[in-house]
Amino acid sequence: MNNQKIWLSSPHMGGNEQRFVQEAFESNWVAPLGPNVTGLEQDLETYLGNEVHVGALSSGTAAIHLGLILLGVKAGDEVICQSMTFSASANPILYQGAIPVFVDSEEMTWNLCPIALEKAIVDRIAKGKKPKAIIAVHLYGIPYQIEAIRSIADQFEIPILEDSAEALGSSYKGQACGTFGDIGVLSFNGNKIITTSGGGAIITRTKELKEKAVFYATQSRDNAPHYQHSEIGYNYRMSNICAGIGRGQMEVLDAHVTLRRKMHEFYAGLFAEIPSVTVFEVPNSEYYANYWLSAILIESDESKGISAEGLRLAFEEENIESRPLWKPMHLQPVFEQYPYYGSSVAENLFQKGLCLPSGSNLKEEERLRIATVVERYFLSGK
Ligand SMILES: *Cc1c(COP(=O)(O)O)cnc(C)c1O
Repeated sequence: MNNQKIWLSSPHMGGNEQRFVQEAFESNWVAPLGPNVTGLEQDLETYLGNEVHVGALSSGTAAIHLGLILLGVKAGDEVICQSMTFSASANPILYQGAIPVFVDSEEMTWNLCPIALEKAIVDRIAKGKKPKAIIAVHLYGIPYQIEAIRSIADQFEIPILEDSAEALGSSYKGQACGTFGDIGVLSFNGNKIITTSGGGAIITRTKELKEKAVFYATQSRDNAPHYQHSEIGYNYRMSNICAGIGRGQMEVLDAHVTLRRKMHEFYAGLFAEIPSVTVFEVPNSEYYANYWLSAILIESDESKGISAEGLRLAFEEENIESRPLWKPMHLQPVFEQYPYYGSSVAENLFQKGLCLPSGSNLKEEERLRIATVVERYFLSGK
């Protein structure tokens, strides 16, 4: 039997990526600038709509870092961050010498809880410091509660840094994720919905802000014939080679979103008859998810020996990758000394959850292998 590894989410090339990379070689644009960088930015601006401006960067993490700088976050400032997320949402707060304030999730979207968010803001203000920014994340491609979070942010006049690293191709009421924040962020890392092998982008509402981001990303070089600097710079621009991969990937983005959504449907069908499992899905038709990763919650049953970790191990035995959900940041050793607001929603999700193989390149044969493990695990008592 074919026992090749089934990955959670692996790169899926469309076909034209190599052509764009080839062009970069032929024209000797082998640098962190060039026609593919400009082309990818234009492709993304067209795709996202809403008159946004996009700057291609070396990673999503770099985009979050520059986003915080553009929002004026400095040493000693406080920044609110969704606790349940990948650490890259929070690390740049520390790069700035600022202080993360973590906030719990709610059960509907697994993202920032509006009630806990408001409590956190009110309490931080009472303690003497108004948070400088709110980092809100669309986990696994499911949009956060867009209107509730925006209304709180506006009420307290705090800008939103929208971490859309997992949500390119998702939308809310027809508007693309990445365009809701005061600044938005995308990632094109190897495991994301599309990849440039490594890369990211910053999304701004004005051309000036995009230009400022690119200025910081290219070592903050002042306009002079010699190297002149009046601000701290970074080397965060995307390479023209990587951008070439990105341009090829943009051609197949929507097709790959459709395939990821089919994987989600496959799991919805597979687990329909298994009462201890719920498949994570959008709350209603106003939410459109790319289902970057399909995720489930499992109610443990000790008498039957069923748990999320048990299923993960059963997959592992068959060389199939599955993973627990993001472990909340307030439970991470590196962040545990920082303030946290909320209860145990994120922690419970982490205990019960599992991400399943979700790639747009999974074949029928691989789905069968996944189904066999699931059926054996739940139906025949392991
Ligand atoms: C992947 C990811 C990032 C970081 O993007 P990189 O391109 O890997 O630096 C940030 N936030 C979230 C939620 C992510 O999933």
